[in-house]
Amino acid sequence: PLPTVAIIGRPNVGKSTLFNRLVGKRLALVDDQPGVTRDRREGDATLLGLDFRVVDTAGFEDEDAATLPGRMRVQTEAAVQDADVALFMVDARAGIVPLDEEIARWLRATDTPVVLAANKAEGRSGESGVLEAMALGFGEPVALSAEHGEGVADLFTALLPYL
Ligand code: GDP
Ligand code: MG
Repeated sequence: PLPTVAIIGRPNVGKSTLFNRLVGKRLALVDDQPGVTRDRREGDATLLGLDFRVVDTAGFEDEDAATLPGRMRVQTEAAVQDADVALFMVDARAGIVPLDEEIARWLRATDTPVVLAANKAEGRSGESGVLEAMALGFGEPVALSAEHGEGVADLFTALLPYL
């Protein structure tokens, strides 16, 4: 099996945008498999000659997300447990909110290594959010713009030790 990255984060931080950028149209092959639900999309990506699997999760998009219950949470938990590395994404423009802290606590309790990325950081926007994200306890975040394709090489460098 390919090394696997699970993208984790609260709603609207840009997880699916990054997933689509990395995986592109190869998603279709995976979607044909039974048991692939909208809360756990998988696809294969290639960066700098390395093939890896990417999992897009939505387990924190439950209406009771603050307490992380329910089926989707179970799906996300499984995705993180099965992954070689969790890519924890926050929104550099919005800054850190309580749900980010909740997810950080949850990720600290798992054995899967975590790489932190602060998205929506195109140009100089989101600089303060990138600094704020350091308080989550996963070191310096990778500044990223999934939409504009900035920081993808830095992200790859951060993920590489786990792939
Ligand atoms: P998800 O809920 O975490 O999967 O987030 P989505 O990928 O659906 O993105 C949520 C919103 O953020 C959409 O309107 C995206 O266009 C926007 N978005 C995603 N990445 C970026 C980015 O790098 N910069 C900016 N400015 N917006 C982004
Ligand atoms: Mg999404």
